[in-house]
Amino acid sequence: MNQRTIAKQLVFNGYGIHTGKFAEVTMSPLKPDSGLIFRSSTLTSRYFCPNVRGTERGTEIVFTDGSTIQTVEHLVSALTGLGLDNVLVEVDGDEAPIKDGSARFVVEQILAAGIQEQNKPKNFFNLKKPRQLTGSGKFILALPAAAFKVNFLLDYTHPVVQTDVYSFEFGKTDFVQEIAPARTYGFQEEIAYLLQHRLARGATLQNALVIGAAGFSQALRFPDELVRHKILDFIGDIAALGALPQAEFFVYKSGHIFNQQFVKTILADA
Ligand SMILES: [Zn+2]
Repeated sequence: MNQRTIAKQLVFNGYGIHTGKFAEVTMSPLKPDSGLIFRSSTLTSRYFCPNVRGTERGTEIVFTDGSTIQTVEHLVSALTGLGLDNVLVEVDGDEAPIKDGSARFVVEQILAAGIQEQNKPKNFFNLKKPRQLTGSGKFILALPAAAFKVNFLLDYTHPVVQTDVYSFEFGKTDFVQEIAPARTYGFQEEIAYLLQHRLARGATLQNALVIGAAGFSQALRFPDELVRHKILDFIGDIAALGALPQAEFFVYKSGHIFNQQFVKTILADA
């Protein structure tokens, strides 16, 4: 398997789910071994720990001056899920556009621009031994494996959603059809809290599923759309290892902060 970039530059724009601010994204091809590079005005930062930070409701890329671009996990998931290794992502704002809350729009833009295979073998992160992290009711276990695989277990005590499990394997599961369309979600009872914490200010019924006591705000795209979205997020988050890991992950109730803690744990003893 060789490295990949996009065949030509692409541009799109939209509003951020947390800031509600408008931003334009430009993705451009990069040469082999460049990695995924973010650019904000004059600064660049590789999507690689410790330049990647998990927050309560998203993942952000951090620049040398301390500035950030928020909610980049769906863009990175789209790039990683499509097997792209070397792409420059310029964002002229504080937050990546949320579009419909999934990675479908970005994936469509990338597929329309085309994928260019490059003349160097793909780099993988080689996990040498099992690693695990437990805490705050969450758990991640990674085992060395031939391919990247994620098994996610979602577990809520809620009248509408309880337990869901889904497994994704890179190269086997169809990322475009099975993962990219799964939308972000939130619970009705969290909305006041999120707004108080200056989050979800750009959230609408067009860019997030809301779960209330009576059911979902919109029709689901998959019966298990929530756990598929958690896998979408996990793919974007684990890419902070700097390359797709050759490992199988068992993930229980994790989120962005815990995912990045796990990335740090692995890299501290790689
Ligand atoms: Zn997400």
